[in-house]
Amino acid sequence: RLYNEVQELKGNIRVYCRIRPFLKGQNKKETSIEYTGENGELVVANPLKQGKDTHRFFKFNKVFGPSSTQEEVFLDTQPLIRSLLDGYNVCIFAYGQTGSGKTYTMSGPSINSEEHWGVNYRALNDLFHLTQSSQNTVMYEVGVQMVEIYNEQVRDLLSDDVPDASMHCVRSTDDVLELMNIGLMNRAVGATALNEKSSRSHSVLSVHVRGVDVKTDSELRGSLHLVDLAGSERIDRSEVTGDRLKEAQHINKSLSALGDVIFALAHKNPHVPYRNSKLTQVLQNSLGGQAKTLMFVQINPDEDSYAETVSTLKFAERVS
Ligand code: ADP
Ligand code: MG
Repeated sequence: RLYNEVQELKGNIRVYCRIRPFLKGQNKKETSIEYTGENGELVVANPLKQGKDTHRFFKFNKVFGPSSTQEEVFLDTQPLIRSLLDGYNVCIFAYGQTGSGKTYTMSGPSINSEEHWGVNYRALNDLFHLTQSSQNTVMYEVGVQMVEIYNEQVRDLLSDDVPDASMHCVRSTDDVLELMNIGLMNRAVGATALNEKSSRSHSVLSVHVRGVDVKTDSELRGSLHLVDLAGSERIDRSEVTGDRLKEAQHINKSLSALGDVIFALAHKNPHVPYRNSKLTQVLQNSLGGQAKTLMFVQINPDEDSYAETVSTLKFAERVS
């Protein structure tokens, strides 16, 4: 079979696909997704079963099926996060249409359910355990920032009225939970309908670590960015106007700018077009060079999502 090689671990960029389950109460309709699990292969069947492209084949570094747990997903993310303590910069993105599970993967369905914690809580929890256990050899400081990018404007979610994103020192997972609660509350403020708004803005949680070797006094720094991207769904230009159209254009622009940057990095192009969007500007220092990037490509299994699924997978294919 001829697979589109979405990702063969080129350089420091890797792509995981995650298929969310059908939800309780949701009519379990037909799915257009077939996957074999083990080797990262994914097959998408055209529900119309017509034309020459009845099936499309993709290959990722890994595919997580609908029954994958948050813990399983984290286990395959953890090594990347730990490389932060070796002084690497790491970016983790969730990409996909609204409702495909981006927030579920990054944050989880609720802050209160540890079992369902997403990558961001688990990552910080893990980092604190590591930094505490190495206290005798390396002293670590951890700072956190949280912003949202909406209509090409960056808004600090942790403090009001500061020109740059404010940095908050954290010493424990509890500190982080408290800050993230504040961030989530601020994200809700000013939103007419929380879900609507959050699907049209990017949220970026940044974790900065500074480690000082107790004996040699040498210092290393690393940062981790955890990005819950705005929904990638195509907006029908004929159906929206005004603010909604403007939002859609900003989202389009920033997601394609992100695609262009990762494409340039994956192909080792000498010019990387960071300046084309706020999102890529904010992440500039952590994308490229020695940085490591992981993209979660989120898929809704519903056959009705076929067109969006294919467009999501094509984005992933392009950035590899
Ligand atoms: P997005 O952020 O992409 O818009 P969400 O993360 O909000 O999507 O997911 C949409 C719905 O699907 C939510 O109710 C969420 O709890 C649920 N969901 C997403 N992924 C999973 C999963 N892997 N397992 C169980 N429920 C999920
Ligand atoms: Mg979301």
